Amino acid sequence: MYDLVIVGAGPAGASAAIAARRLGLSALVVDRFKPPREKPCGGGLTPRSWKLLERLGVEYKWYGECREIRVKVADIKYVHRGEPIRVTRRPEFDKMLLEQSGADFVVDRVVKAEAGRVIGERGTYEGRVVVGADGANSAVARSLGVPPPGPRTHGIAFMSIAQGDLGDTCIIDFDFAYETTGAPGYAWAFTVGERGVDVGIGIGWSPWRDLRGPLLKWAEQLGLKPGGVLGHPLSLGSVESLGRENVLLAGEAAGLVDASTGEGIYYAVASGALAAFAAYIAVKVRGRPREALSIYSELVKPYVDEVRRSRLIGRFLSKFGYNKTVARALGRRLVELYTKVTSGEATYGLIPIKPKG
Ligand SMILES: Cc1cc2nc3c(=O)[nH]c(=O)nc-3n(C[C@H](O)[C@H](O)[C@H](O)COP(=O)(O)OP(=O)(O)OC[C@H]3O[C@@H](n4cnc5c(N)ncnc54)[C@H](O)[C@@H]3O)c2cc1C
Repeated sequence: MYDLVIVGAGPAGASAAIAARRLGLSALVVDRFKPPREKPCGGGLTPRSWKLLERLGVEYKWYGECREIRVKVADIKYVHRGEPIRVTRRPEFDKMLLEQSGADFVVDRVVKAEAGRVIGERGTYEGRVVVGADGANSAVARSLGVPPPGPRTHGIAFMSIAQGDLGDTCIIDFDFAYETTGAPGYAWAFTVGERGVDVGIGIGWSPWRDLRGPLLKWAEQLGLKPGGVLGHPLSLGSVESLGRENVLLAGEAAGLVDASTGEGIYYAVASGALAAFAAYIAVKVRGRPREALSIYSELVKPYVDEVRRSRLIGRFLSKFGYNKTVARALGRRLVELYTKVTSGEATYGLIPIKPKG
């Protein structure tokens, strides 16, 4: 039996594995794919995201840097220059994190998880604590009875790695997304250095739909030649359940993604590491694995509250954000707020949320 069985080798699962091994816990990671595998993503590591990786002593690679970010909302253009967004590629990024954990790894598709046990198509894996870090369609969350996200609790984003060069300028265009999809969201173009440009388009709270057409149009508008196009949901549902007793949910499996920017790597790394720390306290210090959830809930609360606030902003914007008067009045303030939040200089702290529970 392992101290920790982790389902999912994305940033949440790999960070849990890194923290667990450093704390002296035995850990097994189960993923349905062998790394490196593609995960549709903009690959944007915001300043708060790469600073967190560096504080945790996690090694990572990035291939491009956005030193100038051009944002367009309601026909108004903003140019932000500050600490850069570092742009990585997820196949390499996730593989590098997993490898430095030193955890055991097995390829299997998990169908069910329960107290102390993970059941896959090929085997059953036992752990004193289980971490469900299996992303937006988490099988672990489903087997705990956490309501599976309904069609309107997801966002949708499509991306492609395109040939071309934007230098160190990155583009975020809210108008393009709205004009081509009729839904609130944004189109992005993040430089990946010699590898080209990560182009994408994402919208919030929508039934699943194919955004390939708008994405190809976006690439064409920028004069970029897209490669294969991939789409993936974003978990914008409830953040009210973080697991049950000794089964913890981390990253997007717990709904931890900023609903107004779509940023998820930061929350995945933070919650994964905290899940492992909670497991360490529960197993090694207290000798009561079933207390893991109560410890984890306390540790991860600031991140959960921040995500809950982002949901409120996201909901507000999806209703009113494309009213040009509202967008013009709030546009500059929102761009400033987002750049401060994603740089780690500020939080959404002033936005009131109802206390949980
Ligand atoms: C197109 C797009 C662009 C994005 N751009 C950005 C960005 O630029 N910056 C940013 O910070 N965030 C971005 N995000 C969000 C970010 O990608 C996610 O929030 C982040 O990957 C979540 O990490 P995770 O570890 O929780 O889950 P994931 O990265 O989704 O990893 C889950 C892992 O679990 C595995 N898995 C799933 N189901 C099972 C199963 N049943 N059994 C076994 N294994 C399973 C998967 O194979 C995967 O390896 C974007 C999302 C999308 C869709």
